[in-house]
Amino acid sequence: MKSYYEGKLLDKNPPGSVFAAKTSGSMITAYKSGKVLFQGNGSEAEASRWGEAAVKAPAKSITAKGNLPEGFSNWSVIGSDEVGTGDFFGPITVVAAYVRKEDIPLLKELGVRDSKDLNDEKIIAIAKVIKDIVPFSLMTLKNEKYNQLQKSGMSQGKMKAILHNQAILKVLEKISPVKPEGILIDQFVQESTYFQHVKNQKAVARENVYFSTKAEGIHLAVAAASILARYAFVQYFDKLSESAGFKIPKGAGAQVDEAAAKLILKKGQEVLPQYVKLHFANTDKAMNLVNKKRG
Ligand code: MN
Repeated sequence: MKSYYEGKLLDKNPPGSVFAAKTSGSMITAYKSGKVLFQGNGSEAEASRWGEAAVKAPAKSITAKGNLPEGFSNWSVIGSDEVGTGDFFGPITVVAAYVRKEDIPLLKELGVRDSKDLNDEKIIAIAKVIKDIVPFSLMTLKNEKYNQLQKSGMSQGKMKAILHNQAILKVLEKISPVKPEGILIDQFVQESTYFQHVKNQKAVARENVYFSTKAEGIHLAVAAASILARYAFVQYFDKLSESAGFKIPKGAGAQVDEAAAKLILKKGQEVLPQYVKLHFANTDKAMNLVNKKRG
């Protein structure tokens, strides 16, 4: 095991240890007792190279607000968030955005805050201004691709994890050589599951990655990401409505069943994969409506 970490070994061994090593995502300490301790954001992934962990790494998995480092809200941070996962129509949009601490007061002034407190009109207005201030990256998973991936057995959670990782890497590239003090992902799965999902990706952002639910309220970078993701989603939605020839509703309620039925009657069932997330129960409901209408 020591030879595996050659080149990453630390000069000094902590008391009682055989070796200590540091990778980009975790700190590995092997003790004379035979125990090995994995610490850090990538600890679970790192430990999994060596078999099942007997003891879980110190629980940072579901990171509550309180587990973020002191003063985190005022750090220079890349935040990421997604939109569209619960909407039958339309894509999933994921944005990672970099907010420097110096820009926090300005963004506050521009009205950046939790997008759940903002209507679409307001979100669009804010997004148009901040898109030129905040370095960001947008990933849009269009319906057709989404349906392909879903059919191949990929969970929505995995799709999201991959998109978040890609968006974050792009922003890291954009702002390089500057590095953020932290990366905050609006949490949708346990940290260990997230890293499991992205483990086969070419590159994975691991350094200083934090997870928190309701992260929009913790750092403006996530709030900004959320606003930009929503903006992209709304724009895409407008295009969908245009090509459908009528206004497509958001969400996954009865009104989307009606709209999908209308679309099928108008354009044929074969266009559906370009518009909706096929595996939602709404597909069957829409088909039932179509069958009723056709008599
Ligand atoms: Mn979110």
